[in-house]
Amino acid sequence: MKAGMIGLGAMGMGMARNIAKAGMLSAVYNRTAAKAQDLAEELAVSAFDRPEALAANVDIVLICVSADRDVLDIVEKIATSIRPGSIVIDMSTVSSATAQQAAACLAEKQVAFLDAPVSGGVEGAKKGTLAMMIGGEAAALERARPVLEAMTARIMHIGPTGTGQATKAVNQVMCAGINQAVTEALAFAQIQGLPLDKVIEVISGGASGNWFLQHRGLTMTQGTFAPGFKLALHHKDLKICREMAAQAGFTIPLSDATVSDYEQLMAEGFGDEDISALYRLKRML
Ligand code: NAP
Repeated sequence: MKAGMIGLGAMGMGMARNIAKAGMLSAVYNRTAAKAQDLAEELAVSAFDRPEALAANVDIVLICVSADRDVLDIVEKIATSIRPGSIVIDMSTVSSATAQQAAACLAEKQVAFLDAPVSGGVEGAKKGTLAMMIGGEAAALERARPVLEAMTARIMHIGPTGTGQATKAVNQVMCAGINQAVTEALAFAQIQGLPLDKVIEVISGGASGNWFLQHRGLTMTQGTFAPGFKLALHHKDLKICREMAAQAGFTIPLSDATVSDYEQLMAEGFGDEDISALYRLKRML
């Protein structure tokens, strides 16, 4: 089975390396071509200069790009060349509506589509330990499973197309709350003059322990905010979540507050920093 990867950003790069390690990656494409050429050389796979050329040469097309319009642009391009019977798997974080639109476009070409967003951060992408939530046909998932297992520690089939992205929206709302809680609590520790390394270590082992505290606690308190997960991307995700919540007649106040905080940080030029840059605002409180 030959897989091709489109999108070699912070997430896609690690994903591609793990599929290559499992012997199933045959091609890569990236908008900024130099990244694809360097990785192709490293992994001894082909680099294509257009997504449609990649799609014509593989059985499974994997996508991990930024936002809704980017995914739909790629899908529209590959639909012109992809072979019937292929599978397209989108691992970007976008809306359920985008997943449904992509699936409908590819169904016309007898191509299956899975929305398969992930959680676990850049570390998870590098280590191949991502959690993946999947919407789409179970049969397509079973065919693609060997490729997906190369990148993940956990795969969950949620239901029909769009339910993977709906589950990811739940995850993003939870991340917003955790970011608020961890940054605020650590700023409170700092203002009390506590030794932050000890605070983080002991709390990580108790009932408040969580992934974000363990992986970003020390760096944020040291004033380092290298991504990680870009704040501007989480902002994009939370706006999708807000629309989905509004459609369901539901409110997500913690996410609303996080969107406003991120907008302040983005206006100050911190949009490309990790989401833990929220600590910048909390330590000013
Ligand atoms: P990133 O580092 O900013 O990379 C984005 C990638 O998408 C780059 O390869 C970029 O190409 C490509 N791209 C963007 N727009 C494109 C377009 N119109 N056409 C073709 N390629 C395009 O982002 P990332 O952190 O890898 O995130 C990718 C996706 O995964 C996002 O949807 C994000 O929300 C999701 N996600 C991220 C994390 C995380 O912790 N970072 C965790 C879970 C999910 P260039 O190289 O040319 O810019």
